[in-house]
Amino acid sequence: MTKKIVLAYANPDEIGPELEILGSGDFNVVATKGGLVTGSQLTDPDIWPLVQDASALLTGLHIVSAEMMDQMPNLELVTRVGTGYDAIDFAAAEERGIWVTNVPDYSIDEVSAHAIALSLALVRHLFEHRQTGQEGTWRYMGHTPIKRLANLTYGVVGLGRIGKASARKAAGLGMSVIAYDPYIPPGDFEAVGAAPVDFDTLMSTADIVSLHVPLNPETRGMIDARALSLMKPTAFLVNTARGPVVDVPALVAAVRAEQLAGAGIDVLPVEPCPIDDPVLHEPRIIVTPHLAASSVEAVHDVRVRGAEEAFRVLTGNAPKYPVNAPAGPRNGAKA
Ligand code: NAD
Repeated sequence: MTKKIVLAYANPDEIGPELEILGSGDFNVVATKGGLVTGSQLTDPDIWPLVQDASALLTGLHIVSAEMMDQMPNLELVTRVGTGYDAIDFAAAEERGIWVTNVPDYSIDEVSAHAIALSLALVRHLFEHRQTGQEGTWRYMGHTPIKRLANLTYGVVGLGRIGKASARKAAGLGMSVIAYDPYIPPGDFEAVGAAPVDFDTLMSTADIVSLHVPLNPETRGMIDARALSLMKPTAFLVNTARGPVVDVPALVAAVRAEQLAGAGIDVLPVEPCPIDDPVLHEPRIIVTPHLAASSVEAVHDVRVRGAEEAFRVLTGNAPKYPVNAPAGPRNGAKA
Protein backbone atom coordinates (compact mmCIF):
# COMPACT_ATOMS: atom_id res chain seq x y z
CA MET A 1 0.00 0.00 0.00
CA THR A 2 1.31 3.46 -0.90
CA LYS A 3 2.17 5.35 2.30
CA LYS A 4 1.57 9.04 2.67
CA ILE A 5 4.34 11.34 3.89
CA VAL A 6 3.31 14.87 4.86
CA LEU A 7 5.96 17.59 4.82
CA ALA A 8 4.34 20.29 6.98
CA TYR A 9 7.25 22.72 6.71
CA ALA A 10 7.70 22.84 2.93
CA ASN A 11 5.98 24.34 -0.08
CA PRO A 12 4.92 21.86 -2.80
CA ASP A 13 7.26 23.45 -5.37
CA GLU A 14 10.40 23.16 -3.22
CA ILE A 15 10.67 19.55 -2.12
CA GLY A 16 13.56 18.55 -4.37
CA PRO A 17 15.88 17.43 -1.53
CA GLU A 18 13.16 15.25 -0.01
CA LEU A 19 12.19 13.68 -3.35
CA GLU A 20 15.82 12.70 -3.96
CA ILE A 21 15.49 10.44 -0.91
CA LEU A 22 11.83 9.44 -1.04
CA GLY A 23 11.37 9.26 -4.81
CA SER A 24 12.53 5.64 -4.99
CA GLY A 25 9.94 4.42 -2.47
CA ASP A 26 6.23 3.70 -2.78
CA PHE A 27 5.23 6.99 -1.16
CA ASN A 28 2.75 9.78 -1.75
CA VAL A 29 4.68 12.90 -0.68
CA VAL A 30 2.51 15.92 0.15
CA ALA A 31 3.79 19.36 1.18
CA THR A 32 1.33 21.56 3.07
CA LYS A 33 3.17 24.72 3.96
CA GLY A 34 1.54 26.78 1.20
CA GLY A 35 -1.73 26.40 3.12
CA LEU A 36 -0.29 27.12 6.55
CA VAL A 37 -0.31 30.84 7.22
CA THR A 38 1.68 32.28 10.13
CA GLY A 39 0.33 31.10 13.46
CA SER A 40 -1.96 28.45 11.97
CA GLN A 41 -2.16 24.85 13.11
CA LEU A 42 -2.06 21.50 11.38
CA THR A 43 -5.62 20.96 12.61
CA ASP A 44 -6.96 23.99 10.72
CA PRO A 45 -9.87 22.80 8.54
CA ASP A 46 -8.11 23.42 5.21
CA ILE A 47 -4.96 21.50 6.23
CA TRP A 48 -6.15 18.67 8.49
CA PRO A 49 -7.68 16.52 5.69
CA LEU A 50 -4.24 16.48 4.03
CA VAL A 51 -2.51 15.50 7.28
CA GLN A 52 -4.88 13.06 8.92
CA ASP A 53 -4.12 9.95 6.87
CA ALA A 54 -0.34 10.41 6.91
CA SER A 55 1.93 7.49 7.77
CA ALA A 56 4.80 9.91 8.46
CA LEU A 57 4.38 13.53 9.53
CA LEU A 58 7.48 15.70 9.12
CA THR A 59 7.04 18.99 10.98
CA GLY A 60 8.72 22.26 11.79
CA LEU A 61 7.50 23.92 14.99
CA HIS A 62 3.85 22.85 14.82
CA ILE A 63 2.09 21.31 17.78
CA VAL A 64 1.48 17.58 17.45
CA SER A 65 -0.78 16.52 20.32
CA ALA A 66 -2.08 13.21 21.65
CA GLU A 67 -5.56 14.13 20.41
CA MET A 68 -4.21 14.60 16.89
CA MET A 69 -2.42 11.25 17.00
CA ASP A 70 -5.66 9.57 18.07
CA GLN A 71 -7.22 10.82 14.84
CA MET A 72 -4.33 9.66 12.64
CA PRO A 73 -4.83 5.89 12.28
CA ASN A 74 -1.90 5.32 9.90
CA LEU A 75 0.69 7.37 11.76
CA GLU A 76 3.97 5.50 12.34
CA LEU A 77 6.38 8.41 12.68
CA VAL A 78 6.55 12.10 13.58
CA THR A 79 9.85 13.67 12.60
CA ARG A 80 10.86 17.10 13.83
CA VAL A 81 12.78 18.50 10.87
CA GLY A 82 14.98 20.43 13.25
CA THR A 83 16.33 19.86 16.75
CA GLY A 84 13.92 21.00 19.51
CA TYR A 85 10.94 18.60 19.73
CA ASP A 86 9.08 20.31 22.60
CA ALA A 87 5.97 20.90 20.44
CA ILE A 88 5.46 17.15 19.93
CA ASP A 89 3.88 15.03 22.66
CA PHE A 90 6.57 12.36 22.35
CA ALA A 91 5.46 10.48 25.48
CA ALA A 92 1.91 10.14 24.14
CA ALA A 93 3.39 8.99 20.84
CA GLU A 94 5.41 6.32 22.63
CA GLU A 95 2.27 5.00 24.35
CA ARG A 96 0.60 4.76 20.94
CA GLY A 97 3.50 2.94 19.26
CA ILE A 98 4.53 5.96 17.19
CA TRP A 99 8.17 6.93 16.73
CA VAL A 100 9.21 10.53 17.30
CA THR A 101 12.56 11.53 15.85
CA ASN A 102 14.48 14.75 15.32
CA VAL A 103 17.65 15.87 13.54
CA PRO A 104 20.01 16.74 16.39
CA ASP A 105 23.20 17.42 14.48
CA TYR A 106 22.48 19.60 11.44
CA SER A 107 23.09 23.06 12.92
CA ILE A 108 25.61 22.73 15.75
CA ASP A 109 28.04 25.00 13.93
CA GLU A 110 25.35 27.50 12.94
CA VAL A 111 23.64 27.91 16.34
CA SER A 112 26.92 28.12 18.24
CA ALA A 113 28.18 30.67 15.69
CA HIS A 114 25.01 32.69 16.21
CA ALA A 115 25.45 32.63 19.99
CA ILE A 116 28.98 33.93 19.51
CA ALA A 117 27.82 36.51 16.94
CA LEU A 118 25.24 37.88 19.39
CA SER A 119 27.85 37.84 22.17
CA LEU A 120 30.37 39.80 20.11
CA ALA A 121 27.74 42.28 18.89
CA LEU A 122 26.76 42.92 22.51
CA VAL A 123 30.26 43.10 23.95
CA ARG A 124 31.48 45.39 21.15
CA HIS A 125 28.21 47.45 21.25
CA LEU A 126 28.11 46.93 17.50
CA PHE A 127 24.66 48.30 16.72
CA GLU A 128 24.99 51.30 19.01
CA HIS A 129 28.29 52.24 17.39
CA ARG A 130 26.85 51.77 13.93
CA GLN A 131 24.21 54.30 14.86
CA THR A 132 26.63 56.80 16.43
CA GLY A 133 28.79 56.57 13.31
CA GLN A 134 25.77 57.26 11.11
CA GLU A 135 25.01 60.28 13.32
CA GLY A 136 28.51 61.64 12.85
CA THR A 137 30.12 60.72 16.18
CA TRP A 138 33.40 59.26 14.99
CA ARG A 139 35.13 58.10 18.18
CA TYR A 140 35.06 55.58 20.99
CA MET A 141 32.18 56.34 23.34
CA GLY A 142 33.46 55.82 26.86
CA HIS A 143 29.96 55.53 28.31
CA THR A 144 29.61 52.12 26.66
CA PRO A 145 32.89 50.59 27.81
CA ILE A 146 34.25 47.79 25.67
CA LYS A 147 36.11 45.07 27.55
CA ARG A 148 38.91 42.91 26.20
CA LEU A 149 37.69 39.40 25.32
CA ALA A 150 40.56 37.78 27.20
CA ASN A 151 39.20 39.34 30.38
CA LEU A 152 35.69 37.97 29.90
CA THR A 153 34.04 34.81 31.22
CA TYR A 154 31.62 32.98 28.93
CA GLY A 155 29.03 30.99 30.90
CA VAL A 156 27.30 28.09 29.18
CA VAL A 157 24.01 26.81 30.62
CA GLY A 158 23.49 23.34 29.11
CA LEU A 159 26.76 21.85 27.87
CA GLY A 160 25.32 19.57 25.17
CA ARG A 161 26.08 19.52 21.46
CA ILE A 162 25.57 23.24 20.81
CA GLY A 163 26.72 24.34 24.27
CA LYS A 164 30.03 22.51 23.76
CA ALA A 165 30.53 24.04 20.32
CA SER A 166 29.87 27.54 21.63
CA ALA A 167 32.23 26.87 24.58
CA ARG A 168 34.98 25.87 22.13
CA LYS A 169 34.39 28.97 20.02
CA ALA A 170 34.39 31.27 23.05
CA ALA A 171 37.63 29.68 24.27
CA GLY A 172 39.10 30.10 20.79
CA LEU A 173 38.41 33.81 21.07
CA GLY A 174 40.33 33.94 24.31
CA MET A 175 37.49 33.95 26.83
CA SER A 176 37.49 31.86 30.00
CA VAL A 177 34.63 29.36 29.96
CA ILE A 178 32.46 28.13 32.81
CA ALA A 179 29.45 25.86 32.48
CA TYR A 180 26.44 24.57 34.39
CA ASP A 181 24.99 21.20 33.41
CA PRO A 182 23.99 18.71 36.12
CA TYR A 183 23.44 15.84 33.67
CA ILE A 184 26.85 15.26 32.10
CA PRO A 185 30.04 13.60 33.40
CA PRO A 186 33.05 15.66 34.51
CA GLY A 187 34.99 14.61 31.41
CA ASP A 188 32.56 16.58 29.21
CA PHE A 189 33.54 19.81 30.94
CA GLU A 190 37.24 18.98 30.67
CA ALA A 191 36.90 18.15 26.96
CA VAL A 192 35.98 21.75 26.14
CA GLY A 193 38.06 23.43 28.82
CA ALA A 194 35.01 24.60 30.79
CA ALA A 195 35.10 24.89 34.56
CA PRO A 196 31.99 23.28 36.12
CA VAL A 197 30.02 25.61 38.40
CA ASP A 198 26.58 25.65 40.01
CA PHE A 199 23.77 27.69 38.48
CA ASP A 200 23.94 30.68 40.84
CA THR A 201 27.72 30.93 40.48
CA LEU A 202 27.39 30.94 36.71
CA MET A 203 24.70 33.62 36.73
CA SER A 204 26.67 35.84 39.10
CA THR A 205 30.15 35.51 37.59
CA ALA A 206 29.72 35.17 33.80
CA ASP A 207 30.13 38.22 31.57
CA ILE A 208 28.06 36.42 28.94
CA VAL A 209 25.42 33.88 29.96
CA SER A 210 24.69 31.69 26.93
CA LEU A 211 21.67 29.38 27.13
CA HIS A 212 21.81 25.96 25.44
CA VAL A 213 19.32 23.84 27.42
CA PRO A 214 16.36 21.98 25.90
CA LEU A 215 12.89 23.27 26.76
CA ASN A 216 11.27 20.98 29.32
CA PRO A 217 9.32 21.44 32.59
CA GLU A 218 12.59 22.01 34.49
CA THR A 219 14.02 24.66 32.16
CA ARG A 220 10.79 26.55 31.40
CA GLY A 221 11.17 29.93 33.11
CA MET A 222 14.65 28.99 34.38
CA ILE A 223 15.88 32.53 33.66
CA ASP A 224 13.37 34.39 35.81
CA ALA A 225 13.59 37.63 37.79
CA ARG A 226 15.61 35.93 40.54
CA ALA A 227 18.16 34.48 38.12
CA LEU A 228 18.46 37.81 36.29
CA SER A 229 19.00 39.63 39.59
CA LEU A 230 22.15 37.54 40.11
CA MET A 231 23.79 38.88 36.94
CA LYS A 232 26.46 41.55 36.93
CA PRO A 233 25.29 44.95 35.65
CA THR A 234 27.95 44.67 32.93
CA ALA A 235 26.89 41.17 31.83
CA PHE A 236 24.84 40.03 28.82
CA LEU A 237 22.31 37.21 28.33
CA VAL A 238 22.25 35.25 25.06
CA ASN A 239 19.39 32.86 24.25
CA THR A 240 19.57 30.70 21.14
CA ALA A 241 17.83 27.73 22.86
CA ARG A 242 14.08 28.08 23.34
CA GLY A 243 12.00 31.18 24.10
CA PRO A 244 10.12 29.96 27.20
CA VAL A 245 13.41 29.29 29.02
CA VAL A 246 13.49 33.05 29.67
CA ASP A 247 10.81 35.15 31.39
CA VAL A 248 10.91 37.85 28.72
CA PRO A 249 8.96 40.60 30.55
CA ALA A 250 11.31 40.07 33.51
CA LEU A 251 14.29 40.34 31.14
CA VAL A 252 13.06 43.63 29.66
CA ALA A 253 12.45 45.00 33.16
CA ALA A 254 15.90 43.88 34.36
CA VAL A 255 17.65 45.46 31.36
CA ARG A 256 15.73 48.70 31.88
CA ALA A 257 16.68 48.62 35.58
CA GLU A 258 20.33 48.08 34.50
CA GLN A 259 20.59 44.81 36.43
CA LEU A 260 22.34 43.50 33.33
CA ALA A 261 23.78 45.34 30.32
CA GLY A 262 21.71 43.77 27.54
CA ALA A 263 20.68 40.60 25.76
CA GLY A 264 20.84 38.80 22.43
CA ILE A 265 17.76 36.70 21.72
CA ASP A 266 17.02 34.38 18.78
CA VAL A 267 13.99 32.64 20.27
CA LEU A 268 10.89 34.00 21.99
CA PRO A 269 7.94 32.35 23.76
CA VAL A 270 5.54 33.53 21.04
CA GLU A 271 6.82 33.37 17.46
CA PRO A 272 6.50 35.37 15.35
CA CYS A 273 6.78 37.98 18.10
CA PRO A 274 3.98 40.60 18.03
CA ILE A 275 5.61 43.72 16.60
CA ASP A 276 4.51 45.88 19.53
CA ASP A 277 6.24 43.63 22.09
CA PRO A 278 8.67 45.79 24.13
CA VAL A 279 11.44 43.20 23.71
CA LEU A 280 11.71 44.16 20.02
CA HIS A 281 12.14 47.84 20.83
CA GLU A 282 14.53 47.86 23.79
CA PRO A 283 17.82 49.31 22.41
CA ARG A 284 19.97 47.06 24.60
CA ILE A 285 18.31 43.87 23.41
CA ILE A 286 19.14 42.42 19.98
CA VAL A 287 16.42 40.10 18.65
CA THR A 288 16.85 37.88 15.61
CA PRO A 289 13.85 35.94 14.23
CA HIS A 290 14.71 32.32 15.13
CA LEU A 291 17.31 31.86 12.44
CA ALA A 292 20.34 30.72 14.43
CA ALA A 293 20.24 27.32 12.74
CA SER A 294 20.10 28.77 9.27
CA SER A 295 22.70 28.34 6.58
CA VAL A 296 22.36 27.06 3.04
CA GLU A 297 24.08 23.86 4.08
CA ALA A 298 22.08 23.31 7.27
CA VAL A 299 18.71 23.85 5.56
CA HIS A 300 19.64 21.25 2.94
CA ASP A 301 21.03 18.77 5.48
CA VAL A 302 18.04 18.91 7.82
CA ARG A 303 15.59 18.21 5.01
CA VAL A 304 17.61 15.31 3.65
CA ARG A 305 18.12 13.77 7.10
CA GLY A 306 14.42 14.16 7.96
CA ALA A 307 13.44 12.45 4.71
CA GLU A 308 15.97 9.67 5.32
CA GLU A 309 14.35 9.04 8.69
CA ALA A 310 10.91 8.71 7.07
CA PHE A 311 12.34 6.31 4.46
CA ARG A 312 13.95 4.17 7.17
CA VAL A 313 10.89 3.85 9.39
CA LEU A 314 8.32 3.44 6.63
CA THR A 315 10.37 0.65 5.08
CA GLY A 316 10.45 -1.24 8.39
CA ASN A 317 13.80 -0.13 9.76
CA ALA A 318 14.70 1.51 13.07
CA PRO A 319 15.15 5.31 13.06
CA LYS A 320 18.59 6.84 13.46
CA TYR A 321 17.54 9.71 15.75
CA PRO A 322 14.76 8.42 18.04
CA VAL A 323 13.60 10.65 20.89
CA ASN A 324 11.18 8.04 22.25
CA ALA A 325 11.10 4.26 22.37
CA PRO A 326 7.68 2.89 21.42
CA ALA A 327 7.35 -0.77 22.45
CA GLY A 328 5.15 -1.78 19.55
CA PRO A 329 5.60 0.57 16.63
CA ARG A 330 2.57 0.68 14.40
CA ASN A 331 2.53 -1.27 11.16
CA GLY A 332 5.65 -3.30 11.81
CA ALA A 333 8.49 -0.75 12.04
CA LYS A 334 11.25 -2.46 14.00
CA ALA A 335 12.52 -1.17 17.33
P1 NAD B 1 21.54 18.77 23.65
O1 NAD B 1 20.45 17.85 24.08
O2 NAD B 1 22.68 18.22 22.88
O3 NAD B 1 22.14 19.53 24.93
C1 NAD B 1 21.36 20.07 25.95
C2 NAD B 1 22.17 20.02 27.24
O4 NAD B 1 21.41 20.68 28.26
C3 NAD B 1 22.46 18.62 27.75
O5 NAD B 1 23.85 18.47 28.00
C4 NAD B 1 21.68 18.51 29.04
O6 NAD B 1 22.33 17.73 30.03
C5 NAD B 1 21.60 19.96 29.46
N1 NAD B 1 20.51 20.23 30.39
C6 NAD B 1 19.26 19.70 30.40
N2 NAD B 1 18.55 20.24 31.41
C7 NAD B 1 19.35 21.12 32.01
C8 NAD B 1 19.19 22.00 33.12
N3 NAD B 1 18.03 22.06 33.80
N4 NAD B 1 20.22 22.77 33.50
C9 NAD B 1 21.40 22.74 32.82
N5 NAD B 1 21.63 21.93 31.77
C10 NAD B 1 20.61 21.13 31.38
O7 NAD B 1 20.80 19.93 22.85
P2 NAD B 1 21.42 20.84 21.67
O8 NAD B 1 21.26 20.14 20.37
O9 NAD B 1 22.74 21.33 22.09
O10 NAD B 1 20.35 22.05 21.66
C11 NAD B 1 20.39 23.03 22.65
C12 NAD B 1 19.22 23.99 22.50
O11 NAD B 1 19.31 24.67 21.24
C13 NAD B 1 17.83 23.31 22.50
O12 NAD B 1 16.94 24.13 23.26
C14 NAD B 1 17.41 23.37 21.05
O13 NAD B 1 16.00 23.37 20.90
C15 NAD B 1 18.02 24.70 20.64
N6 NAD B 1 18.18 24.91 19.21
C16 NAD B 1 17.87 26.14 18.71
C17 NAD B 1 18.02 26.40 17.35
C18 NAD B 1 17.73 27.76 16.79
O14 NAD B 1 17.54 27.90 15.59
N7 NAD B 1 17.72 28.81 17.59
C19 NAD B 1 18.45 25.37 16.49
C20 NAD B 1 18.80 24.13 17.03
C21 NAD B 1 18.65 23.89 18.40
